[in-house]
Amino acid sequence: MTHFIKEEVRKVPVVKKIGVLVIGGGPAGMIAALAAARNGTETLLIEQDGFLGGMLTAGLVQVIAPLHDRAGSLVIKGIPLEFIERLWKQGGMSGDLRAITWLPHDSEATKYVADQMMEEARVEVLFHSLCVDAVLEEKGLKGVIIESKSGRQAVLAKVVIDATGDADVAYYSKVPYEKGWPETGLLQPMTLSFRMGGVRLSKWPHISEELKRTFEEAVKQYGPVGGQRGLGVLPLIREEECFINKTRIAGDGTNVRDLTRAEIEGRKQAWRCLKWYREHLPGFENAYIMQSAYRVGVRETRRIMGEYVLTKEDILGARDFPDGIMRGAYWIDIHDPRSNRTEYVYLKPGTSYAIPYRCLVPKKVDGLLVAGRCISGTYEAAASYRIMSHCMAMGQAAGTAAALCVKTRREPRELDVRRLQSKLIEQGAVVNR
Ligand SMILES: Cc1cc2nc3c(=O)[nH]c(=O)nc-3n(C[C@H](O)[C@H](O)[C@H](O)COP(=O)(O)OP(=O)(O)OC[C@H]3O[C@@H](n4cnc5c(N)ncnc54)[C@H](O)[C@@H]3O)c2cc1C
Repeated sequence: MTHFIKEEVRKVPVVKKIGVLVIGGGPAGMIAALAAARNGTETLLIEQDGFLGGMLTAGLVQVIAPLHDRAGSLVIKGIPLEFIERLWKQGGMSGDLRAITWLPHDSEATKYVADQMMEEARVEVLFHSLCVDAVLEEKGLKGVIIESKSGRQAVLAKVVIDATGDADVAYYSKVPYEKGWPETGLLQPMTLSFRMGGVRLSKWPHISEELKRTFEEAVKQYGPVGGQRGLGVLPLIREEECFINKTRIAGDGTNVRDLTRAEIEGRKQAWRCLKWYREHLPGFENAYIMQSAYRVGVRETRRIMGEYVLTKEDILGARDFPDGIMRGAYWIDIHDPRSNRTEYVYLKPGTSYAIPYRCLVPKKVDGLLVAGRCISGTYEAAASYRIMSHCMAMGQAAGTAAALCVKTRREPRELDVRRLQSKLIEQGAVVNR
């Protein structure tokens, strides 16, 4: 049985009162903050790390999944596309931007471009600050409690956007949520991504068929390596570097013991992988681990229950909604926690689905919007919209909605969605088919 102690009641200083407060500076949160600020609202972005990007940077997920549908048409534009174009101009991406769909990026350039864009939009950023609680009043969320080297502090806001990936703010605000697969409660495995240097590969986006065949042969001969079944190698913007998405660790990314085990086990798998690749794969004889992710990659944890729950049928049926605020086209991509396999279920080429505004609006609690992988959907639906391009587009919608709420003094659930849709279209986002 858990033993408890009682904490002394403490007075917490209110260090800021703001229009829009975004918690979490990953793909969803950074774009949300930009959208809120550009729509004329004072915006503060709080992030636990010392840089922005979330999985893009801290997680070393070095390839942004397509903004396109499977026929090659762009279904995500607006601020996400602008961000990517800025990154490309900075030299943080390679290739012909119009011709490639999977976008490899340099995470150091990504951090720098994110800082620049926040500065230009006058988003105030506070790093090294972890949101640890919600300030709730009868009518809903009024702000959050953060902890940092400066101690425990309160920040109050008219609208808070939870872009923590894990729905931390929603959880502290007692929003209903689900976690894991319905029958088993299992979660997609975590992965410690890493970068290998000293490799000889053909340039992005091609991994030679010969290398794939050699890998399969070596697996037959020497046995499997790492948690995932496939080669797991993605070339990056420099020829001698690649991104390895290969380790697999079961566990819950909201449990600190599981996270700790995942970091240690992830490193073990990465080093085993290095040895195996050096010994058995041509082009990897002199490979070395340049860098492992700053934090282990978490594919799924809490999904809030919102005013609408997006389903697999909505995604595969390329459904439209009257309150659609973005479009997505990525397939359902489930890393099976019970095996080393990954299941892919595709949308028809040339089709895309809408995400309704209601998926960003949590049940019961006012003053709060949610963006990113923790929005309201089933675990299967989340396996499509969790990718970074889609999280960025949700960010634009959430930030714009929050700014409109502040301007019109309305709660997120009362917002005039038509007005939100017009604003999004005016600002380059794709809302309708
Ligand atoms: C191993 C792996 C491989 C993937 N591969 C791809 C891929 O190839 N392409 C692709 O597009 N997508 C990929 N994805 C999916 C994608 O990276 C994530 O689903 C996406 O980044 C989610 O975006 P987000 O903004 O919701 O959350 P995150 O990227 O997790 O960002 C959340 C941010 O909030 C911060 N934060 C969290 N809690 C708090 C708190 N309490 N207080 C303050 N700050 C907080 C975090 O530090 C982080 O910066 C992959 C994911 C994983 C794990």
